[in-house]
Amino acid sequence: MATQEETFKKLVSHCKEYGFVFPSSEIYDGLGAVYDYGQNGVELKNNIKQYWWNAMTRLHDNIVGLDAAIFMHPTTWKASGHVDAFNDPLIDNRDSKKRYRADVLIEDQLAKYDEKIQKEIDKAKKRFGESFDEQMFRQTNPRVKEHIDRREALHARYAKAMNDNNLDELKQIILDEEIVCPISGTRNWTDVRQFNLMFQTEMGSTADGAMTIYLRPETAQGIFVNFLNVQKTGRMKIPFGIAQIGKAFRNEIVARQFVFRMREFEQMEMQFFVRPGEELKWFEHWKQFRLRWHKALGLGDEKYRFHDHDKLAHYANAATDIEFLMPFGFKEVEGIHSRTNFDLSQHAKYSGKKIEYFDPEINQSYTPFVIETSIGVDRMFLSVLCSAYKEETLENGEQRVVLSLPPVLAPVKACIMPLVKKDGLPEKAHEVEELLRYEMNIQYDEKDSIGKRYRRQDAIGTPFCITIDHDTLNDNCVTLRYRDTMQQDRVEISKLHDIIAKAVDMRHLLQNLK
Ligand code: ATP
Repeated sequence: MATQEETFKKLVSHCKEYGFVFPSSEIYDGLGAVYDYGQNGVELKNNIKQYWWNAMTRLHDNIVGLDAAIFMHPTTWKASGHVDAFNDPLIDNRDSKKRYRADVLIEDQLAKYDEKIQKEIDKAKKRFGESFDEQMFRQTNPRVKEHIDRREALHARYAKAMNDNNLDELKQIILDEEIVCPISGTRNWTDVRQFNLMFQTEMGSTADGAMTIYLRPETAQGIFVNFLNVQKTGRMKIPFGIAQIGKAFRNEIVARQFVFRMREFEQMEMQFFVRPGEELKWFEHWKQFRLRWHKALGLGDEKYRFHDHDKLAHYANAATDIEFLMPFGFKEVEGIHSRTNFDLSQHAKYSGKKIEYFDPEINQSYTPFVIETSIGVDRMFLSVLCSAYKEETLENGEQRVVLSLPPVLAPVKACIMPLVKKDGLPEKAHEVEELLRYEMNIQYDEKDSIGKRYRRQDAIGTPFCITIDHDTLNDNCVTLRYRDTMQQDRVEISKLHDIIAKAVDMRHLLQNLK
């Protein structure tokens, strides 16, 4: 059995081989933590975005869209706190010269304790079988208790250091826990210091005084600065939301795990404006709705969990992550934050404009509170691929790699294949293509044996293959082959559209969310 790390490596090369993800500017040896989406990747990504967009805007009468520019007036980032506080605590190992995020090193250490605890539990489960009481075991087994106590102590100390922004204490924790550099194996650490994650550039020519501007590190601020524009022109009544999909940029230091942590990535964010005092009710509402959105894809309910934040950002009064079980553990895919009225108040203060809402129901003006749902398209893409990637041995001993993607997200919905390149079969196949192409992304393939063509489609996750053979010319029936079961049915051409549309149409997914 391949380890999870090996499987992940295979997935990364699969993504490249089959046109999902390429390293950016690869002919120049790539650019760290920047990736390009290939012909299949872009389709999958677009489908994810469409699912999100439709679920957020079409299913909610009170949520509208926005597409704000990436460049924003620099004062935006002063007001939002990003110029002064969007920092990561960094530490260098003097021997390997490698740079790490101090918080990530400590979180990895916490995960190690969790692994140790889990190992003991799994061992005991095997030994005691049916009668095993995990709760009791956790409380009474001395070895497990010791691990739990050490974990809890570390956790408390770490949370406090992060909350107090105490860089010396972060370093001390790394020393006390005897954390070593994974490359050099030594504990020869520098002090911890802060590093701002925003990319800067210049706007205008330097001769007449260029302005330093930032590439946005989140899309949310484009929504906040447009709050009044949208509320007034859309005659929006609170509660209402504004949704946006767009690129964001962060000069990440620990850039690893493929598209999980990129320097240029894409976010899908929704800011929901509510009456002060009602934010926690809405926070709970959006937590549940967003989890349902994820689970509806059928990747496996057990792969999701909430992770509440220990360190609340200075503006937040509640925050949680939706984590997904990646091959490298449970990882954040989406954040849901109750951001109070911090952002709108700050923009009011820095711009000198009044940013308020008059609520006719209570006859009062106020600065609305905000619940934010923020999901990374690329992390979502990765979670879908990780759960879809499968290596199978078939009955005849052959191997196949199949992406069991949810059909609604699959880049290609169906591939149409004439059995041979002659006898009028290609012409018939093109007729079938015409029937489907206006509604879904399909492919036509006449090269190589049918078996090879099936394998190619399995590898990109195409849910249906349609084969046109000599009989088709007489009976107007084709062979419809299903990706996951590899079952083949003889189907009338006139019925094809309905069968495929039923599986790939987003309508059913959305109806289930309502
Ligand atoms: P992390 O703790 O992993 O750095 P974060 O908590 O800073 O993430 P948020 O600021 O809450 O992330 O951003 C919202 C979402 O944007 C995240 O849940 C994630 O899906 C996505 N995201 C953030 N940073 C990146 C990145 N560097 N690459 C890809 N996606 C990202």
